[in-house]
Amino acid sequence: MTNTDTRDVGATVAQIQRLHRAGCEIVRVAVPNPEAVEALARIKKAVTVPIIADIHFDFRLALGALRAGADGLRINPGNIGDEEKVRRVAREARDRGVPIRIGVNSGSVEKDLLATYGGPTAEAMVESALRHMALLQECGLMDFKVSLKSSDVLTTVEAYRGLAVKSDVPLHLGVTEAGPGALGAVKSALGIGLLLAEGIGDTIRVSVTADPEEELPIAYGILRSLGIRHRGVDLICCPTCGRTEWNLMEVAQEAERRLRSVVTPIKVAVMGCAVNGPGEAREADVGIAGGRGHGILFKKGMLVEKLPQEKILERLLQEVQAMTGEAIL
Ligand code: SF4
Repeated sequence: MTNTDTRDVGATVAQIQRLHRAGCEIVRVAVPNPEAVEALARIKKAVTVPIIADIHFDFRLALGALRAGADGLRINPGNIGDEEKVRRVAREARDRGVPIRIGVNSGSVEKDLLATYGGPTAEAMVESALRHMALLQECGLMDFKVSLKSSDVLTTVEAYRGLAVKSDVPLHLGVTEAGPGALGAVKSALGIGLLLAEGIGDTIRVSVTADPEEELPIAYGILRSLGIRHRGVDLICCPTCGRTEWNLMEVAQEAERRLRSVVTPIKVAVMGCAVNGPGEAREADVGIAGGRGHGILFKKGMLVEKLPQEKILERLLQEVQAMTGEAIL
């Protein structure tokens, strides 16, 4: 999801394009006011990736976003007005052939469900989703998916499992407000990963407190770990230990940063020593096993050459570039 001011068309388009290049296949854009609706129409003309308009509180913004050409709407039907307003949005989306995501969030479950279930429990979220689904179906809109996000991983997982038992509606997975850095990555990987491993989920979004582009490596890391998608570099690095005698951490971090742009699936190893190093490096498409002041380069299981430490990184990147045909800056 973009975090620019949507009214700033130039900045928003630039961020959408960066996200698309980083592997984002659907981009959500906040549409909080009528100016953002106008901007949305211009943004749509400038990008090729599908754009989802994120709407809260005002059904007129949802109608405006549909007319502006949004490829999808994300709404929380519980907060955009009464049922008749939701119906108007659903009918307009149906007539335009635009899908809707019902975004149930633990922070916005209806009051009566909170009272019945004693809080925003997984059961309350499932019932809220079923209610909204029935409302859209009643309007003849069948093209929708559902998300059931909580900032609590286990509540999120329980909610998705609960709805998956009751319905075969497509599910958009995510742990909301997962937090910054490692914390957000861990919570997202656990919540999304557990569900995907069970065969639950159709689309995903990682939400961390960082530049939105930072979410893509985490998302692709989850998919790669589960064998669902193989995009870009699978970087295998040892954690270092008392046997490490070269600047592995520095090289690994720099390699990770510079290899992010690679799209071709490729396994790259950066290993610390001769204990597990050569073994892992040989398993990879290309790898380095370091030693005191030098490194050994392996390619497809074959020892290629011995390198002085200062040449290890550039030589490794050069090999990746040659194998993928992609420029590495
Ligand atoms: Fe330590 Fe070598 Fe294992 Fe790295 S590969 S953690 S340096 S034993």
